[in-house]
Amino acid sequence: MPSRALLYRRPTEPQAIEVVCDGAVHLVRLRRHRQARRYTLRVVAVTREAVLTMPPRGSFREARESAERHGAWIAARLDRLPRAAPFEHGTEIPLRGVVHAIAHRRSARGVVWTETDRDGRRLLCVAGHGAHVARRITDYLKREARRDLEAAVARYAERLSVNVRRISIRDQVSRWGSCSTSGALSFSWRLVLAPRFVLDYLAAHEVAHLIEMNHSARFWRLLGRICPDMERAKAWLDVRGTDLHRYGMAHDGLGAIKPRRRALLCHSAREGVKPARARRNGSFSAAKTAGR
Ligand SMILES: [Zn+2]
Repeated sequence: MPSRALLYRRPTEPQAIEVVCDGAVHLVRLRRHRQARRYTLRVVAVTREAVLTMPPRGSFREARESAERHGAWIAARLDRLPRAAPFEHGTEIPLRGVVHAIAHRRSARGVVWTETDRDGRRLLCVAGHGAHVARRITDYLKREARRDLEAAVARYAERLSVNVRRISIRDQVSRWGSCSTSGALSFSWRLVLAPRFVLDYLAAHEVAHLIEMNHSARFWRLLGRICPDMERAKAWLDVRGTDLHRYGMAHDGLGAIKPRRRALLCHSAREGVKPARARRNGSFSAAKTAGR
């Protein structure tokens, strides 16, 4: 009964609650879920967002009470997340897995470039006004990601004799790559931060979907043949993948990245990274108190 879903969110109901803990304000997003039996609070690492899932007929008052009761829990969870690493002078970011410090060279010529200083430290230099540093770094990383991914995809496509229609580079939170039935591939630009074998694996993964549009044993066998580093890359993403999302994030973190809606075709490096991560980051369930 899809029409019922429309009734779940009351038109005047706020979409988020502000919870104050030790003087800090945390935003808790409200989400009604058809199958929810209780109020469940969780902190999603990649979006640094607190989400309170509530039953279809739960009340806003109860949701507020539940969120407020767990203000300290939210604060503690957020505190444990990796620190935001905004694109500004001095921030260290990995580029193809190698640490580079961002160096703002205000009056230098050029836009963004890499160099090595006298101590052998790798620098990612950016020229121009300070207000443009973050955007210039982001644009540069997206461009580099596209270049690496296009080259890797072309290599694997040739190997499997398939045609790739289009490659798009995005900032997806829920998956590292995807493949549509029309042959269009899309990837997260953040893969350029990971070591080369991880980006290569994702390229191979999506290209292999042009032959096997599924995750059957046949698909994994095919992928293993063209990408011997598959297991190593999957393990890397599993352990370190979430960390890539903190780069370019503003200091306050919260709300810096908007989660995207899931697409119909979900082909991620680790299928279901998002729920697994959410669980690992912990959630807190509170029994519905109504009628007790
Ligand atoms: Zn896949």
